[in-house]
Amino acid sequence: MNPRDKRPGDRRSFPQPGRPGAAVWYVLGFLLLMALAQTWFLAPAGRQISYSEFKAAVRAGQIAEVVISEQTVRGAYKSEVNGSRNFNTARIEDPKLLEELDATGVRYTGEFVSRWLPEVIGWVIPIVLLFALWSFFVRRMGGAEGGVMSFARSKHRVFAEDDVKVSFADVAGVDEAEQELKEIVEFLQNPKKYTALGGRIPKGVLLVGPPGTGKTLLARAVAGEAKVPFFSLSGSEFVEMFVGVGAARVRDLFSQAEQKAPCIIFIDELDALGRARVQSPMGSHEEREQTLNQLLAEMDGFDSRKAIIIMAATNRPEVLDPALLRPGRFDRQVLVDKPDVKGREEVLRIHTRQVKLAQGVDLKVVAARTAGFAGADLANLVNEAALLAARKDKGAVEMADFDEAIDRLIAGLEKKRVMSRKEREIVAYHESGHAIVATLIPGMDPVHKISIVQRGFGALGYTMQLPLEDRYLMQRRDLLNQLAVLLGGRTAEEIALGEISTGAQNDLLRATDIARAMVTEWGMSDALGAINYDGHKRSKFLDIAIGPERGAYAEDTARLIDAEVKRIMTEAHAEARRILTEHPDMLEAVTRRLLEQEVMEGNELRAILGVPSAAAEPSSEKTPLPPGLS
Ligand code: ADP
Ligand code: MG
Ligand code: ZN
Repeated sequence: MNPRDKRPGDRRSFPQPGRPGAAVWYVLGFLLLMALAQTWFLAPAGRQISYSEFKAAVRAGQIAEVVISEQTVRGAYKSEVNGSRNFNTARIEDPKLLEELDATGVRYTGEFVSRWLPEVIGWVIPIVLLFALWSFFVRRMGGAEGGVMSFARSKHRVFAEDDVKVSFADVAGVDEAEQELKEIVEFLQNPKKYTALGGRIPKGVLLVGPPGTGKTLLARAVAGEAKVPFFSLSGSEFVEMFVGVGAARVRDLFSQAEQKAPCIIFIDELDALGRARVQSPMGSHEEREQTLNQLLAEMDGFDSRKAIIIMAATNRPEVLDPALLRPGRFDRQVLVDKPDVKGREEVLRIHTRQVKLAQGVDLKVVAARTAGFAGADLANLVNEAALLAARKDKGAVEMADFDEAIDRLIAGLEKKRVMSRKEREIVAYHESGHAIVATLIPGMDPVHKISIVQRGFGALGYTMQLPLEDRYLMQRRDLLNQLAVLLGGRTAEEIALGEISTGAQNDLLRATDIARAMVTEWGMSDALGAINYDGHKRSKFLDIAIGPERGAYAEDTARLIDAEVKRIMTEAHAEARRILTEHPDMLEAVTRRLLEQEVMEGNELRAILGVPSAAAEPSSEKTPLPPGLS
């Protein structure tokens, strides 16, 4: 769509056209010449005849002279036979030949065979051919993903884009990420301002988010906004065939960047390179680990006042080596998530800037119909709609084209799990349930945000509460409330839809976990008393780690524990039900609003519920990954 979207990588990773091919053509041409030469010089002149024919001609006295060489006999007739004076034939073992020649008075001579030509053909040609093939493949590999040859050339392969034309205006629907990155732009534009007081500029920023949400685009936009050179490489480009090459490339990259500071180094698909190092018995990932180690060393080593920002992107943060996320490395993580309705509309607006739209096209409606689409999907959608319109020879893209394109893309995305309307409704009720219970129980952490935008990492929606203050202790009451909130999702589904779904699995797991810990670890059940039944298992407060093994206690006690856990859960469930049935219209209102706009801020929720917004609702734009409720 947007011509600026052309990726820099496209220009870099191909070998120059024609160069490696040329060598091969030379060799082929040479071979052809040799073959011609062979027929020219070696092939004896004259008509090819059989040996018996030759002998018959000798006896009949037709032959004038012959030249006998190691393998052939050629010669001339006294007069033309079958249109040719000359003949040749393959020589065979024939001891009597000379006698017969003498008898019929034929002139005969022997011949030295010149040996160099067969020699050349027999030995040199295959060698030349092999060499040509070898160098051809080596160049191919070197051009594509870095091979033997590219090692030597790696200095030229790192490609700094000096004048990036992308800006934040080309990115939409990821406002929070944009906000965080603006700070990085500031640093790059004016490093002195920050370093003058002795501060250190952040080194690493990791963009995390599902594919196609604009991570690469954002990284380029940062370079474009700050007007600094942009070094970009993909993680897989570092992983070479030979040990040490990737590490050399990392060193190279950083030394080049240092000369161009301030600048940005962008490592796309960091997971290809930065996977957790494992102790493998085969030692098979040695190369990747060396490269990773080199990267870590470079990140630690370079002067942090030099204003080089290392950005990286990944959609699989969970596989990254923890060492990468340590302070001083990629310690800033920016979540780049799929856009909500409003964001989708803005993305569509950007990508239709150069598309002729018909009168009736309402991008708002298009946005509403594309729940679950990432930015790249939307760009694709606009393109598809434009192509459909063009195929029908229309003068402008109409709403019908968008509809058709949406249908096509959704069919294609089905594998990526775009939610159906019914599913969205279930998720909306579920999240509303969590949020309402959390808001109406006094003393709970305020709800910060509810969302039914499908996230990349499994959850279909989430309700985020932000604590007002750090907690070190929780009282029994707090835990019971927490349980009611956790069960609020499932309960809302029951009440509103009269049916339950699998969506509550994680809630139930967490709730059961808490209930069990209340009984067996924190001595909060009257029936069992203040006894810890589970030993030292739990290291961190509320951190879930119930293993399959259990503490040492009797069968009867086990039964009692189960009964108590069940009782606590049942009571929490009843509490959630009580709150939600008391305000059925609220559940309906919140759900409708959520379906409409997909995300809702805490204040808006409290306005619907008629609860005053706590003045202390944290205003920070930071988004920690949601502390659990899903
Ligand atoms: P990622 O790196 O997250 O997989 P990309 O940045 O490569 O995604 O996005 C691919 C293309 O999709 C971009 O070049 C752009 O055209 C479009 N795109 C993706 N996200 C957005 C967005 N938030 N705003 C505008 N365009 C987007
Ligand atoms: Mg990308
Ligand atoms: Zn839930």
